[in-house]
Amino acid sequence: MAIQRPKGTQDHLPDGSPKLSLDTRAVAFQHVQDVSRRVLERAGAQFLATPVFEEAELVKRGVGGSTDIVRKEMFTVYYFGDHGGFILRPEGTAGLVRAYLQNGLKQLPAPLKLWTHGPMFRAENVQKGRLRQFHQVDYEVLGSTDPLVDAEAIALMVDVVAALGLTGVRVKLGSIGDPADRETYNAYLRGLFGAHVDRLSDDSKERLERNPMRILDSKSAGDQALIAELGVKPMLDFLGDDARAHFEAVQTYLNSWDVAYDIDPSIVRGLDYYRRTAWELHHEGVGAKSALGGGGRYDGLAEQLGGPLVPGIGWAFGIERLLLAMEAEGLDVPGSGGPLLYVAALDVANVGHAATLAIAARRVARAEFAYRAVKPGTAFRDAERRGARLVALIGSDEVARDVVSVKDLATGVQMTVGTRDLPAYLAGHLEPSGSVAQAAPAQENA
Ligand code: AMP
Repeated sequence: MAIQRPKGTQDHLPDGSPKLSLDTRAVAFQHVQDVSRRVLERAGAQFLATPVFEEAELVKRGVGGSTDIVRKEMFTVYYFGDHGGFILRPEGTAGLVRAYLQNGLKQLPAPLKLWTHGPMFRAENVQKGRLRQFHQVDYEVLGSTDPLVDAEAIALMVDVVAALGLTGVRVKLGSIGDPADRETYNAYLRGLFGAHVDRLSDDSKERLERNPMRILDSKSAGDQALIAELGVKPMLDFLGDDARAHFEAVQTYLNSWDVAYDIDPSIVRGLDYYRRTAWELHHEGVGAKSALGGGGRYDGLAEQLGGPLVPGIGWAFGIERLLLAMEAEGLDVPGSGGPLLYVAALDVANVGHAATLAIAARRVARAEFAYRAVKPGTAFRDAERRGARLVALIGSDEVARDVVSVKDLATGVQMTVGTRDLPAYLAGHLEPSGSVAQAAPAQENA
């Protein structure tokens, strides 16, 4: 058997490939990127791309040394003579904030809205919707603590999924307070879980020392049973006045824009640099535990990376998860379509001439040609297989008269067009957007 792709990765395939699903269709990925671009750039976000590998230290500080991502799921990059200290990025925020600091983007007007998309890497246990290379769309806003920025970020995330046609999406909104609020909460959790250390998983025993809030995030069934049994109070009960006012302001904005959300006290982001607003986007078709995306405020991150204090907030969603949700809702994305024009020569001497015509036609529209001489029946069949709208056949007669005879496969109409008039004729078949126009419905005979 030929060499296979690594486990947990996917190929993004052209339309027409056998066994195609929405989350492996290249045009579907492009569609999500295009829709995200449209929604986010209309809101003033600018595109920024960062490398797929970064210093390990950036990922450790940016994602947190106590997270599963850093402890168990990092892909380390080695190359000859190097210190082995690079990591394939597991998420986009740390790299984006690094780029902001390193390139002096602080000088741009704040709040600065940035967005990006690209592959992320985590060595996870592979299952449906959980890959080792997956793709995210990220939106980040730097330089403001205003709750209006939080509400706008959440609304934009909802706008992107709505623009994709998804309806079964819910926002789960929470707040993790300010650092002092979290200290109070962690002290409460230490007291509570401290009396039951023997029942905690090994991971959670360690979390009890370092960061008890992360116990609430535990994937261990035993830990979750203990949490339920102890009736642990949520972080929301521990918000200080400032964080509570911020949380309420975010909700007031969302309410005024009719953005639906549920308050979810179980949302915890146990990392030190997270502040206040945190949320997740869920879809019934992808399963309760599998979020389409999530976001949060991270005012402490830039300092954590060795920079000045730069407040920030952002979100990411997984493109594969979005596509699975779209598939679950029976949504489809437009295919890439076929060429407007397919040119075929009827004899060997004119193959080059057919190619020249098609190449000239590309100034107007997508045009392809046959690489060998074919009979008219074969030309029509080949054109149909490629999804072409118009077929031009070139024989010696057409070359002598400097014309092409064109058949419109949608209407069956056949006509002769002067070579020089071909561009205008083709332009008549295009929408203003540049896509091929639909054929006008055939006239009913009276
Ligand atoms: P996170 O950075 O963990 O908050 O993830 C943000 C989003 O990225 C998630 O809600 C998923 O949609 C997506 N995502 C995260 N990990 C994976 C993965 N291993 N496979 C596919 N999508 C993922």
